[in-house]
Amino acid sequence: MDQNSIDALRAISVAPKLHLIDGKLTPASDGAVMDILSPLDGKVLTQVPCGTAADMNAAIAAARAAFEDRRWAGQAPAARKKVMLKWAELIEANALELAVLGVRDNGTEISMAYKAEPGSAAGTIRYYAEALDKIYGEVAPTSGDVLGMILKEPVGVVGAIIPWNFPMMIGAWKLGPALAMGNSVVLKPSETASLSLMRMAELALEAGLPPGVLNTVTGRGDVVGEALALSMDVDALVFTGSGGTGRRLMEYSARSNMKRVYLELGGKSPNIIFADAPDLAEAAKVAAFGIFRNAGQVCVAGSRLLVERSIHDDFVAEVTMNAEAMRVGDPLDLGTAIGAINSEDQLARNLGFVETAQAEGGQVVTGGAQILHETGGYFMAPTVVTGVTPDSTLAQKEVFGPVLGVTPFGTDDEAVRIANATDYGLAGAVWTSDLSRAHRMVQRVRTGVMHVNTYGGADATVPLGGVRQSGNGHDKSLHAIEKYTNLKTAWIKL
Ligand code: NAD
Repeated sequence: MDQNSIDALRAISVAPKLHLIDGKLTPASDGAVMDILSPLDGKVLTQVPCGTAADMNAAIAAARAAFEDRRWAGQAPAARKKVMLKWAELIEANALELAVLGVRDNGTEISMAYKAEPGSAAGTIRYYAEALDKIYGEVAPTSGDVLGMILKEPVGVVGAIIPWNFPMMIGAWKLGPALAMGNSVVLKPSETASLSLMRMAELALEAGLPPGVLNTVTGRGDVVGEALALSMDVDALVFTGSGGTGRRLMEYSARSNMKRVYLELGGKSPNIIFADAPDLAEAAKVAAFGIFRNAGQVCVAGSRLLVERSIHDDFVAEVTMNAEAMRVGDPLDLGTAIGAINSEDQLARNLGFVETAQAEGGQVVTGGAQILHETGGYFMAPTVVTGVTPDSTLAQKEVFGPVLGVTPFGTDDEAVRIANATDYGLAGAVWTSDLSRAHRMVQRVRTGVMHVNTYGGADATVPLGGVRQSGNGHDKSLHAIEKYTNLKTAWIKL
């Protein structure tokens, strides 16, 4: 990846996109389109279909037909593996093109997007491709006159609803295990970041995935997303996004066919710094990166900084220094550390949280405002707010932007109490040199992921999932395969 290649790709005009239904590129049934605005300059980048419920139903019907005639599920695992490996190769071969397209659509800084989007997506698809022919059924320990077999079957048609922050990475977390197990999928990308994921789906067909097995429909969440979630012909729904939408999806399931619903939701993750951290300068740097990369638009972002009172002021000064050293700007510049906010609405939401935090007694020590107005894009300075009380809005609600709230604590018990005092439970971290304390904190802080003396960074081998209102399932690792599998018992009298 070099700046010249990025600059060449950024200048290319992006042709309007179409749905992918039954292997064919298809416009909306009523011809409607929606503009895709680039967060880099606020200008129209291209258009995608503004889909209708009829479009979604056509995609579901295509997925169902593909599943029922077993054009994918019926292939030998080795054959499915070959297609998925080829797909991973194609994603890698087109990595820079996909990364730049995605950045123009969602604003993530390219240095991160290149690895986190095509890089991670290809790795995830390859991981599940390699796993799929190593999954066995079981024979139950029954009495000798029967054979109790436990078979693992695909669930059928899977609906996947994806957010805007890392569309390819999160898309691959769903598509990898779903397709590996032989399911058919209908994918509904986010309104504000669909382009790279749609291109990635087209590459699956180029790799040899049969038509109808993977379908993509764009449009409004409350139109096509709702039609997908309310369908009587979708067997499982997998979702990453906000808690509000997740709650609706559960209702839609209850009102329709009680399809399985797996939710990966938001977080308000505590990053807990003890005075005995092995390297406080490193902790401060990582704390800044852990909230400000991708402008805070990361589900596991360490958005609450809990600092032991004895080091509070010095540590905040160090975090602030690191925040101010992170260059905000053109996400397609390799030197940029913090890219754009995904949309104007999200930017306004972020600024609203800063205002509320101040009204509730917080002090903004750096940032707090929109910057780079002259670009026409959506940029915000990394923001550190101190004096954030555990019950305040900034401590309780997910911003999903570059806003860090700092709260001091005195004892281990107090740190645990504050860490657990939200509805969320996605991620967290503890920084300490005391091994026992580290283990105790891992046990006591109620999250799906705890880091020790680091923040962020994981690979396909470990699960990611929240507890409490951060979700109810796991992406990544072999455990994710369970979401896309039915267990069937064959009870055979001998
Ligand atoms: P969102 O809930 O607004 O949208 C997510 C998706 O749901 C979009 O595709 C949207 O079109 C669709 N949608 C919206 N309304 C719908 C409806 N009524 N029916 C069906 N679908 C509907 O979330 P977002 O703003 O795109 O993403 C940000 C959120 O995602 C944050 O809360 C973040 O923490 C969370 N997230 C979680 C993880 C994780 O792994 N836990 C990862 C990334 C992001």
